[in-house]
Amino acid sequence: MAAEKPAKGEPALMKDLFFDPPEATGGKWKCKLCEGALTWRGSNSGYSAFVQHMKGSYSSTWRRDLDELKSNNARNGNLDGYVRRTVSDKAINLFNWIDWVVFEDLPFSAVENPRMRKYSSLQPITTDTLMKYMELLNQRVLGKLKDYVPDSNVYLKFDSWSCDDEHYTAVNLSWSAGKGKREKCTLCCGVFDLPEDMEMVENVEDD
Ligand SMILES: [Zn+2]
Repeated sequence: MAAEKPAKGEPALMKDLFFDPPEATGGKWKCKLCEGALTWRGSNSGYSAFVQHMKGSYSSTWRRDLDELKSNNARNGNLDGYVRRTVSDKAINLFNWIDWVVFEDLPFSAVENPRMRKYSSLQPITTDTLMKYMELLNQRVLGKLKDYVPDSNVYLKFDSWSCDDEHYTAVNLSWSAGKGKREKCTLCCGVFDLPEDMEMVENVEDD
């Protein structure tokens, strides 16, 4: 399938709908979706900077979003404040890999497995990239938790169990939400086994 191009008149529309003008940002034109900044030399220079950004970062969604915004415009003539928050193709790809690896309990190296890459519709990434974005996601989630969870009267609860030879531990955060109501969320959950070739700490010799 050939990459889709905007129709006549649409590039200018893309500029207006997907970008905030310098007057609003105090500097450059900024993408409303990722806040990426770009320079525009006026309508004489065309709109390719805007089109390129949309086609580059949102290749699978810009057409749908533009159509939606256009039909919304036709319905009520008011577009201000209406831009659906969406994410870049790169973010979707990373999210899908993380989702797959985490919920299917796959090793992190699975993303470099030649058959996984061959049969998957996702763009290839490396194990290092996967781990990087899992860690960044973890930081974001913990950051959100800080906003959400109160500063005091918070409890950590550990729940451990075994299944066959594997030992699992879940760490839960729990706090009072008033009137006998308790909230909780799971911070982590997984197998906590020592790798077989790992020595017991008491057997590790000092230098
Ligand atoms: Zn953007």
